[in-house]
Amino acid sequence: MDFEFTAEEKALADMVRKFTEKEVAPFYSKWDRECKFPRNINKKMGELGLLGSSVSPDKGGMGVSHVAEGLITEEVSKGDCSLTMSTFVVGHLCAVLLEQGNERIRKEFLEPFLSGDTIPAFCMTEPGAGTDAVAMRTRAIQKGAAYILNGEKSGITAMMDADIALVFAKTDPDAGARGVSCFVVPTDLPGITRQSYEDMGCKGITRGSIFMEDVEIPEDYMIGQEGTGFKMGMQGFDVSRILLSLEGIAPAMVSLEETIRHTTQRIAFDRPLATFEGVSFPIVEHISILEAVRLLCYKGLWMRDQGMSTSKVAGMVKWMAPRFSTNAIRDCLVLHGHYGYTQEFPLEQRLRDVMAVEIADGTSQVSKLVVQREIFGREYLPYNYRNR
Ligand SMILES: Cc1cc2nc3c(=O)[nH]c(=O)nc-3n(C[C@H](O)[C@H](O)[C@H](O)COP(=O)(O)OP(=O)(O)OC[C@H]3O[C@@H](n4cnc5c(N)ncnc54)[C@H](O)[C@@H]3O)c2cc1C
Repeated sequence: MDFEFTAEEKALADMVRKFTEKEVAPFYSKWDRECKFPRNINKKMGELGLLGSSVSPDKGGMGVSHVAEGLITEEVSKGDCSLTMSTFVVGHLCAVLLEQGNERIRKEFLEPFLSGDTIPAFCMTEPGAGTDAVAMRTRAIQKGAAYILNGEKSGITAMMDADIALVFAKTDPDAGARGVSCFVVPTDLPGITRQSYEDMGCKGITRGSIFMEDVEIPEDYMIGQEGTGFKMGMQGFDVSRILLSLEGIAPAMVSLEETIRHTTQRIAFDRPLATFEGVSFPIVEHISILEAVRLLCYKGLWMRDQGMSTSKVAGMVKWMAPRFSTNAIRDCLVLHGHYGYTQEFPLEQRLRDVMAVEIADGTSQVSKLVVQREIFGREYLPYNYRNR
C-alpha cells in the first residue's frame, strides 16, 4: 500500500495551486456577485492542459491519471468550488463522451473543448425526468442524413455559456435505457432557445434550460451507435462523482484551516477560543471525517486507474462528502461569530456552493441507491422489486 502521490502528480498539484492562488481565488466572490462565468480562465486552463486532462494524448489530452484529475479538481476548488463543477466535473463527463465520438466530432468539438476555446454542457436532466433519467421525453428522429431534435433539458451547468450541448434523446421510446442516444448539438443552431436560473449558489456557472424545437443536426453528430447513449453517459459518473466529492471537501478543509487560525488568535474570556474544547473538538471531528472521506475519494480514483469498477466508492463519497463538508463549513461560519455571517468572508458563499454537490450528478439518495445495489444486489432495488 502506497499513500504517496507520485513526483509528477505533486508537481502538477503545485502548478495548479499557484495558478489558483493567482488567477482564481481572488475572484471567487466577484464571479458569484456578477453571476459570470470566467471564459478567460477557462481558456487559461485549456492552455495548461487541465481541461479533459485524462483524455489520451493521441486524442489531444494530457492522458493524466484519474488521481491527478482529482488533485487538479481539489486545488482549483480550494480557490473556487463552483467553477470546478463546470470545468472538471461536467468537463470530465463531456470529455468521456467526446473522446468516443467519430473523427469529425473529435476534430470539431473535442479539440476546441480541450484548448478552452469552447464550453460544453452535459444535458441529461429534464423537467419531468431527473433521478429517473430514463423517463426522458426529448426525441431525436432520423430524417435522411440528419436527426431532428425536439425537447427540453433543465438544470444544466454552464448552459448559458455553453457552445455545445451533449444532448441525450430517445431514438426508440419503447426501448428504455437502450432507446437513448447522445448527440452533439451546437447551441447557435436555429430552433434553440435558453433560459437562465437564479441559483442560491454556484452563481458563476450560469445554470439554465435549453429548449429544442425541430433542431436539425447531421447524423455524424451522434456519439457512438443509436441506443448506446445512456450507457456511455453513465460511464463518466464513476469518476465525476468522486471529483465532485473532492470539489466539496476542498473548500471545507480550507474553511477549517482558516477557523484554526481564527480561533487561535481570537481572545474571549482572556484566552484564545481554541483552548475551549467546545470550539476545538468540532474542528477535530470535521477534520477526522473529511480526511477519511478524502482518502476514500483517492482510493476510488486509484481503483479506476487500475481499471476496476468504482460505482460503490463513488456512491459512498458522493453522499458523504457534501453532507460532512457543509456541516464543517457551517460550524466554521459560526466559529467566526458575526464576521462569519458577512459576505466579507467566503464562508457563506462556500456553504451555498457546496450544497449544490448534494444534488448535482445525482442526489445523495440516488448515490445511496447505487451503494445499496452493490451491497444487496440489483434485485433489492425498489424499482426492480416493483417489476417482479
Ligand atoms: C448545481 C446543479 C448542477 C446540475 N448540473 C446538471 C448538468 O450539468 N446536467 C444535467 O443533466 N443535470 C444537472 N443537474 C440536475 C441534477 O442532475 C438533478 O437535479 C438530479 O439528478 C435530481 O433530479 P431532479 O432535480 O429532477 O429531482 P427528482 O428526481 O425529482 O428528485 C426529487 C427528490 O426525490 C428524491 N428521490 C427521487 N427518486 C428517489 C428514489 N428512488 N429513492 C429515494 N429518493 C428519491 C431525490 O433524491 C430528490 O431529493 C444539476 C443540478 C444542480 C443542483
